[in-house]
Amino acid sequence: MRAYDLAFLAAIAFAACNSFTGVADLDAESADGGSTGSNLPALLPADGITLTRVEIYQGLQVKLMEDGVAVANDLPVVIGRDALFRLYYDVEPGFEGTPTTARLTIGDEEFEVQASVGSISNESSLGSTINIEVPGDMLMATDWRVDVLQPREETSGSNKAAAFPSDSEAKESLDVTNPGGPLRVRLVPVQYQADGSGRLPVTTEDQLELIQDMFFNVYPVGEVEIIVDDPFPWTQPVAPNGGGWGELLDAITNYRQTAGADVNEYFYGAFRPSDDFGEFCGGGCIAGLANLAGPGDPGQRAGIGLGFAGPGSIETAIHEVGHTHGRQHTPCGVSPSDPGFPTDEVHVEASIGRWGLNMAQNQLVDPGIKDFMSYCDPTWVSDYTFEALLTRIQAVNGLAKYIGPSTRWHQVSFDQDGTRWHPTVELGRTPTGEPRDVTLVTASGQERVAGYFFGYDHLDGGRLLFPATKGVTQVRLEHRGAPIELQR
Ligand SMILES: [Zn+2]
Repeated sequence: MRAYDLAFLAAIAFAACNSFTGVADLDAESADGGSTGSNLPALLPADGITLTRVEIYQGLQVKLMEDGVAVANDLPVVIGRDALFRLYYDVEPGFEGTPTTARLTIGDEEFEVQASVGSISNESSLGSTINIEVPGDMLMATDWRVDVLQPREETSGSNKAAAFPSDSEAKESLDVTNPGGPLRVRLVPVQYQADGSGRLPVTTEDQLELIQDMFFNVYPVGEVEIIVDDPFPWTQPVAPNGGGWGELLDAITNYRQTAGADVNEYFYGAFRPSDDFGEFCGGGCIAGLANLAGPGDPGQRAGIGLGFAGPGSIETAIHEVGHTHGRQHTPCGVSPSDPGFPTDEVHVEASIGRWGLNMAQNQLVDPGIKDFMSYCDPTWVSDYTFEALLTRIQAVNGLAKYIGPSTRWHQVSFDQDGTRWHPTVELGRTPTGEPRDVTLVTASGQERVAGYFFGYDHLDGGRLLFPATKGVTQVRLEHRGAPIELQR
């Protein structure tokens, strides 16, 4: 792949034209790939080939042109994110195997690949299309065109079907979306002391690289930052059946609230409660837990999960960080699930709904693969989740600049292990958890206030926030249709 800076070439041509009219035009042509001595470019539209479709992939298939007609992208194109363009074509008999140069122009940038055309393209075979990679930092403009070219000596140069748009001066517009920043995951290595081992999660260079790649595959951002924090000692046991999980999640959530974290940081406590996964999870287990956080609740952006080597624990982390982006379960192997997930045929049982592409492995992902917010395997990101994550990421990155007047809130969490009171937290806005009517019992009587509840994703329980009040001895509220009392 080559990238030319056309803006730079144009500047040279302009400057030269002022002093050496005519001659400078030839120089400019030659810099553009032409041979000296002629005004014609060296490469002209190829004969015998018809472009039939153009797609862009940033993880999922998005059509930009079909049968010579521009298609508005039905999934956001993310600026700054690596992309692959696929050019589909038909060839006339006799042209199969012809060497061509395919050129993609985005804004002022050009990308070229050499390709020998086959007979016909189909979407299930990556090798049957002309594929052009575009690094994310070059994907910042809002118009594009493609040309399939041959050396001037080998083509008539008159085939308008070898380019899109067919008018050689025209460009098609591209509707792009800005996520507003990277995905930032702060990996907190929980040092597991309950069995006396002091075992840490696996954070080798290989594992961190895999974490970064796997998050990047499915989160709609230009960049994923994985920050490894200092070890976080933990002496309580965490059991396969869910015991101890809420307590550890609370500890990581509290840590996030005091760690001076940015609004858009996602804390993830990883731990190894045994030497290997099978030993812990042989009879089935909880593998991760997170807060279902709202966009305006940075203090709740925390999750925990197993931290063994290999992709399994990373899949859990991707799923849990999805919950902290407000994503619910998608409907495969788990109920209840997100009522907003599409119910059409292509999304049956949380299917991703269209072709995916793993760019790192140069491999297509079948449309029948499952969305990563489901409980089924193997997983990729669905178009539904991709778009929803992008909306949340934009909201969170927008909030990153927000500083409002702050108020102080009490925090109490409850689950199968009991009730836990936490330090109060100062917030720049009202929490966006589920509103709950809360009755506070104090020495001087009772008071009704508006509370906000953040449920755990994989356990019955969660965290309640209510305005900080002096002398609270008990909190009463309804949970799952029944009154509960939380004793201080
Ligand atoms: Zn889940």
